[in-house]
Amino acid sequence: MTDPLVDVDDVYKSYGEERVLDGISFEMDRQDVQVLVGPSGSGKSTMLRCINRLTDIDDGDIALDGTSIFDIDENDLRRDVGMVFQDGNLFAHLTAIENVKLGLKRVRDMGDKKATEKAAWELEQVGLREQANSYPAELSGGQKQRVGIARALAMDPKLMLFDEPTSALDPELIGEVLAVMRELADEGMTMLVVTHEMRFARQVATDIMFLEDGRIVEHGPPEQLFEDPENERTASFLGRLT
Ligand code: ADP
Ligand code: MG
Repeated sequence: MTDPLVDVDDVYKSYGEERVLDGISFEMDRQDVQVLVGPSGSGKSTMLRCINRLTDIDDGDIALDGTSIFDIDENDLRRDVGMVFQDGNLFAHLTAIENVKLGLKRVRDMGDKKATEKAAWELEQVGLREQANSYPAELSGGQKQRVGIARALAMDPKLMLFDEPTSALDPELIGEVLAVMRELADEGMTMLVVTHEMRFARQVATDIMFLEDGRIVEHGPPEQLFEDPENERTASFLGRLT
């Protein structure tokens, strides 16, 4: 039996007196697309941040590919776990291709020529060949998010984390970002996605987890959560979003 790619085991996390993650456990197999939903403040971002050690946990363990993330060199972990945030997080003074190259040179020690080729290829994959030399200020919100995705993919990660990647976008720009994510899922990337895009969740997710007050109150395939939720809160939350 092979290990799951991600094994989150009874994770607790508090900020001061406030318990934000209250005994979270779940596993992800390779190629899974897990969607994490829940009300604002329920701990979704914190859960994602724990997985790539942007924040520490108080108790429990998280393993990636059979190894506790606390035994993995931080540089290696950042390479293996890509993250896309709400607002792209690009460096404003660097062009799209320079943003993508940065990690290749710093984290993967690539020479300039190889990094340029790889970055150009990644930008092409997200449909931004023409925009390689544009600065973030010259790009739309959707294009910036796609640069962020290309930058994470350039590391050849084992896992991609998405934290509400479309929630800061104008409605007409959401589709192009979701299309890139859908393609990535089709290609077999393992993804953990926080989103309010329920149509995406329904069509692309292998599993949906509903988080409330730092606990997973329901977890199952999309058909089950949408059509026959066990939990009253899940039902009303999903009903409100669709
Ligand atoms: P979500 O992403 O589901 O909206 P978060 O994980 O961002 O929820 O936040 C969960 C709770 O943790 C919130 O009450 C939030 O105020 C608190 N929190 C998040 N980050 C911090 C932090 N760095 N310091 C203190 N409290 C935080
Ligand atoms: Mg959040």
